[in-house]
Amino acid sequence: MFAEHNERATILIVDDEPQNLHLLGELLMADHEVLAATSGEEAINRVQSSTPPDLILLDIMMPDMNGIQVCRKLKEDPITTDIPIIFITAMDDVKDETEGLAAGAVDYITKPFSPAILKARVKTHLKLKAQTDMLTKLSMVDGLTGIPNRRQFDLRIAQEWRRLTRSGEHLTLIMIDVDHFKQYNDNYGHAAGDQCLRQVAKALHGVIHRAEDLVARYGGEEFVGLLPGVNEDNSLIIGEWFRRAIEDSQIEHKFSSVSDVVTVSLGIATCRPKDHTTPEKLMKASDHALYTSKKSGRNRLSLDVI
Ligand code: GH3
Ligand code: MG
Ligand code: MG
Repeated sequence: MFAEHNERATILIVDDEPQNLHLLGELLMADHEVLAATSGEEAINRVQSSTPPDLILLDIMMPDMNGIQVCRKLKEDPITTDIPIIFITAMDDVKDETEGLAAGAVDYITKPFSPAILKARVKTHLKLKAQTDMLTKLSMVDGLTGIPNRRQFDLRIAQEWRRLTRSGEHLTLIMIDVDHFKQYNDNYGHAAGDQCLRQVAKALHGVIHRAEDLVARYGGEEFVGLLPGVNEDNSLIIGEWFRRAIEDSQIEHKFSSVSDVVTVSLGIATCRPKDHTTPEKLMKASDHALYTSKKSGRNRLSLDVI
């Protein structure tokens, strides 16, 4: 998702004229990875199917789908919305430029262009993109524990929801809350409480292995697991892995009424994402299941199927 510091950035050039593609390609190839597309459809397919480019140079006048339409389409998709787009076109009246910028482009270069200026602008936008990526990355990580934070979770559940609505697979959500954590804090101190949360985060994170699974800190002493493609039966198995991972960490907690080590209660909710259910309903169901686990003795799992 993010171009690392010293990695070559990838630029997608979209133009229906092979000659223009060739010219721009020659200009940028020395410093960047260059991809080419000769139509709007091809551009969108390329962007959505593989690792997204870091920058797109987009021609406006193309048959079928024009550049403005391509730009709008990419900007309305949360996965591609952050890729900077520079229009390169022969159209030079103010109205076109305004329309292009309103569609979400970061810059607008008219043909004929000076190669040096084009290169300089590309460099500027790639630098900005790298900085934005870095900030985005930092804003997605929980400062205390180093695992994904709630913002990342919110983004991922929205993405997975859309993907699974199409594929028809299950989505499992597991809310995980530390038992009697107030007692822990009050007796061992806040710094020890922080250290405990780090250990809990690490243990929970160690349970997942698939790239599509996510464990995030939801807030305070609450964590959340997001498991795409996991059905009811498997959700109980993975929920038990989470529960056991914490118990097995053997973090002393003499002030818990449940055990002499730190434990967690879990609320599991599973569904097949469809248009008439929502992520909010799934969250609510796992919250309800968590409440059931707390009420019925803690250090256990409960399941709600919606
Ligand atoms: P239950 O078993 O019902 O979940 O009880 P609990 O004591 O775990 O729940 P409660 O919500 O009463 O207390 C949660 C505590 O977590 C209170 C708060 O001070 C503490 N807490 C929240 N965030 C942090 C944090 O970042 N660091 C530390 N050390 N404590 C935190
Ligand atoms: Mg708690
Ligand atoms: Mg809580």
